[in-house]
Amino acid sequence: MAGHVQQPVVLVVEDETAQREVLAYNLEAEGFRVAKAENGEDALLMVREEKPDILILDWMLPRVSGIEVCRRLKTKSETRGIPIIMLSARSEEIDRVRGLETGADDYVVKPYSVIELMARVRTQLRRSRPSSVGERLEYEDLVLDTETHRVYRGNNLLKVGPTEFRLLSTLMEKPGRVWSREQLLDRVWGRDIYVDTRTVDVHVGRLRKALTLHGGENPVRTVRGVGYSLG
Ligand code: CA
Repeated sequence: MAGHVQQPVVLVVEDETAQREVLAYNLEAEGFRVAKAENGEDALLMVREEKPDILILDWMLPRVSGIEVCRRLKTKSETRGIPIIMLSARSEEIDRVRGLETGADDYVVKPYSVIELMARVRTQLRRSRPSSVGERLEYEDLVLDTETHRVYRGNNLLKVGPTEFRLLSTLMEKPGRVWSREQLLDRVWGRDIYVDTRTVDVHVGRLRKALTLHGGENPVRTVRGVGYSLG
């Protein structure tokens, strides 16, 4: 996995076992990591535990309904940014869900085509996490190619280690956003590995060195008491 960003995590919330398993199978085949929940209550727990990058959320669920799950996630600042694709059995239901202004990012009517649903998952991730779906990221004179794993500044190909590559791709996804060291650890190293937050500082230092080797200003800003941001 050297050089790759963390696999996107898709949380599938569906009470019908067969549908849930088909979705999980297809998502895994597409290279996603899948978390599953069979009711709304578990879904809310899983969001906290798994920190998914996207939710596929059935409307009709036991315990807490899909609409309520959606509403709760979209009203909290920590979870508002997670894209949600709502599934529903009938188009009239979708119209109703839309009317309720739950804040879902996309709506799909059952029975859906799995291929189309996968395409919609990619579309949502492209917006929220571009580096996870094979994109070219650009910021000022910096270009990062997630397919070839190359980084250019102006006309220079830069020598960037795998960790620095993941760090830079995370920063380039949202220029101007301030990331805490803990958030960078989660995203770049993965939350299963124990790494000290000072490690982040070490790799930011290496990244800055690589970025400024052929001249140009250092684009990675230290935000005192908070963390780092690009620009
Ligand atoms: Ca259902």
